[in-house]
Amino acid sequence: MGAVLEVLANFIFPPHCPVCQAYVPQRGGWCQDCLTVTLRPHRLPLDPAMLSALDAAWALGSYHGTLRGLIHRLKYQRQRSVLPAMQTLLTAASPWLSQEIVPCAMAVPVPLYAAKERERGFNQAELIFQEWLLKNGWQWRRALQRRRATLPQYGLAAEARAQNMRGAFLAAADAAVQGSDVLLVDDILTTGSTLFAGALALRAAGARSVRALVLASDRQ
Ligand SMILES: [Zn+2]
Repeated sequence: MGAVLEVLANFIFPPHCPVCQAYVPQRGGWCQDCLTVTLRPHRLPLDPAMLSALDAAWALGSYHGTLRGLIHRLKYQRQRSVLPAMQTLLTAASPWLSQEIVPCAMAVPVPLYAAKERERGFNQAELIFQEWLLKNGWQWRRALQRRRATLPQYGLAAEARAQNMRGAFLAAADAAVQGSDVLLVDDILTTGSTLFAGALALRAAGARSVRALVLASDRQ
């Protein structure tokens, strides 16, 4: 947006905090209180089965309330207007990222099935994370492909979710992950079966380690 247009837009639609609606100086900004409550980067507990493919996993906050609302608006209502608020959250988390998840290596987004991505118009993991990770020194590679359409995970019980995702991913022909330390990124982690299936495919293609980073998780 041009500078003049931005001033005009901010005058007509003043930017506000995505939680409490308080006015903030910049589009995508949060008030300090809501940012502090929402941004809770933490390491996720993983059960032994999960640890057979995933070395570690982190989330930037909890999958309820504010973050859940922002993610749903992006995924299901295709509201890209929530992205600046997400970017601000990630920027605030940058010191944590560079301390906790080292070394910077290769980041890989969990892919959607091609037809699904065409229908949605984007891959949310890519919209959320790509710019921020590149800025923080990571390589970005679309190293995974989804081999088949899967059912939406949210309607399924845990065992059915694992079944639904089994063998869903394949490393891309040009993935070149052999010997690499990979950070798999997605919008959410709930049962973890999607990230687990992605990690298995990356390991099958020779990745040395696979860690995961999501925007939100309901695991504490
Ligand atoms: Zn607020």
